[in-house]
Amino acid sequence: MDFRLDCESIGSRARAAVFQTMHGAVETPIFMPVGTQATVKAQTVTSLAETGARLLLANTYHLLLRPGPDVFNKFGGIHRFMNWSGPVLTDSGGFQIFSLRHARAMEEAGARFKSYVDGTTHLLSPESSIEMQHAIASDIMMVLDQCISSKAPHDQAQAAMELTHRWAVRALAAHGNSPAALFGIVQGGCHHDLRKASAEFLRELPFDGFAIGGLAVGETHAERYDLTEWATEHLSAHLPRYLMGVGTPIDLLEAVHRGVDMFDCIIPTQLAQRGVAFTSHGRLQLRRSVHKFIEEPVDAACDCRCCRAYSRAYLHHLIKSDEVLGWHLLGMHNLAFYNRLMQEMRGQILAGNFAAYYRQKRGELMRVDADNPTRPPKKNKAVQPPRMGDYELHRSAQGFYSIRQISSGEIMHSVSAPSDEADRLYIQQSALAARLVDPDRAGELVIWDVGLGAATNAMAAVHCFELCQRENRTKMRPLRLISFEHDLDPLTLASKYAGCFAHLRHRAPSAILTHGRWQDDSELMQWELLKGDFRDFIDTAALPDVIFYDPFSYKTDAALWSAGIFAQIFSRCLAKATELYTYSASTAVRVTLLDAGFFVAQGVGTGPKSETTIAFNRAESASQHPLRPPLLDQKWLARWRRSAAKFPGNIGKDKQLHFADRIEGHRQFSHSV
Ligand SMILES: [Zn+2]
Repeated sequence: MDFRLDCESIGSRARAAVFQTMHGAVETPIFMPVGTQATVKAQTVTSLAETGARLLLANTYHLLLRPGPDVFNKFGGIHRFMNWSGPVLTDSGGFQIFSLRHARAMEEAGARFKSYVDGTTHLLSPESSIEMQHAIASDIMMVLDQCISSKAPHDQAQAAMELTHRWAVRALAAHGNSPAALFGIVQGGCHHDLRKASAEFLRELPFDGFAIGGLAVGETHAERYDLTEWATEHLSAHLPRYLMGVGTPIDLLEAVHRGVDMFDCIIPTQLAQRGVAFTSHGRLQLRRSVHKFIEEPVDAACDCRCCRAYSRAYLHHLIKSDEVLGWHLLGMHNLAFYNRLMQEMRGQILAGNFAAYYRQKRGELMRVDADNPTRPPKKNKAVQPPRMGDYELHRSAQGFYSIRQISSGEIMHSVSAPSDEADRLYIQQSALAARLVDPDRAGELVIWDVGLGAATNAMAAVHCFELCQRENRTKMRPLRLISFEHDLDPLTLASKYAGCFAHLRHRAPSAILTHGRWQDDSELMQWELLKGDFRDFIDTAALPDVIFYDPFSYKTDAALWSAGIFAQIFSRCLAKATELYTYSASTAVRVTLLDAGFFVAQGVGTGPKSETTIAFNRAESASQHPLRPPLLDQKWLARWRRSAAKFPGNIGKDKQLHFADRIEGHRQFSHSV
């Protein structure tokens, strides 16, 4: 296929490539519209070409039953038959056979099934599948595989994978020296060891590319993203990778980020039939009556024929009336949106910009009709958000999700998107990336993550580590992340709704929930959970370099902001330079830290908070910190003297004088002007 890698991203596995077919070159990443019956539903080849479609997919199983191989033999293949001059990829029929369930029998020879056209029995074998694809004369062919449910237990998944491997060898033999390309298919269900074994087995065979099969069949998004990345990691870098049957625009972005080159899915045309349009301002439902009088096009930023010529009102009318033209026009628009998205991703990869683009685009692609957000109907008002224990899912007015404690009403990371706050407050401010790749600082870096919550801060650290590792493979310091939490309900709840929490689409959080620990493939990063009361672990947990201090507020959990706990942390860390980062900038918290012996500095602001707090246990640490955070100075002290909330709540009147003396006499202030 003469596969050429044009560019690999930094900070992402995304890549841009080009390969040759008998009907011309194909640039990746690419989306393939699905032409099940040798037609993409409600489109002509001319309209398809107008949307920017380059490579079509056709289904061997359906075409085998009707019109049958004789018709393709007569026409010399699908290109002349359907009047499409670009390249075509055919699947093997394995997935359709899988969907038949009751009308099939799997055996070593192949899959026996009953035709839905005339009731006759057929055997689809690795050889007959290839023979049919040769009759269709597609440019890229797929081996027959045994697809199974993503819920299949290990032994069943392994048996199906091994059968798929034997069939792959037979398909290669049947393919002979045909000039068409042939792809192997990685199987293995939701089992990492099997997916790895499958990729490693297939990549030794002379295939022209590889598909990742058996996904998008019931697993969660998080599992799919994870298994996709796992598979691409174990496939050859110098051949195309195709994720079968995926997906929505956000799925494509996530998979390209994980190293996939090719996609097919019925979603753009199927949802068009139901009145759904993907646009630059979110997903629209044209059936909604808000569009009845709207003269604007579906997407003013789109130059497709639908958007150039027709109003939303007209599309609304066509969809309401079940007119085929509505399906045709919205299908065109959706395909144009998909193809433009793929081209945009390719452009960003080539420009070396994909990692930043990915972070920005993710939010954009998850939006729903930004202009006319739906208000929940009245009867739904009583419907409660999903709950677990004392926690519930909370959607902010800006559309991002957090976890709220029901009893206190407190929202974790309430001020901005949770991942953004975690990144700004804890990761960037602690200069974590620089610490991880600093060759002068030998030994393990230890982080305490106090208040695991929905793992937002911990996963921000995991992502930072992975990003650094991709860019600086050889110079990394080992990272040990220790999370402290007594209640796992927030993380369990958020994991159930991982679609709302991008940071949880990763293997690590589920490993923490199941096993209490996780390590990355390089074994350089260890993450462990210490479940229980933080105070019980302070004296035994490995000494930290950095502490992310993010429990609920003083109002909700006073014990974790007490003088006692900060004094305990301070004396525990005497042997090491330690920095504590926290979101609180309250006077009470700051004086409590000072009184415990810390040197206290102003941290960056986040959202509506104009500042946060950093505490050091060494006098010189603030001036050596890369961001040079300003230590609280005499001016702050003067304000404190006048403050009405001068003393932490638990200081009795008789102790206030002594307390004030200790603060006034703190070394931090004797150095200031
Ligand atoms: Zn359009």
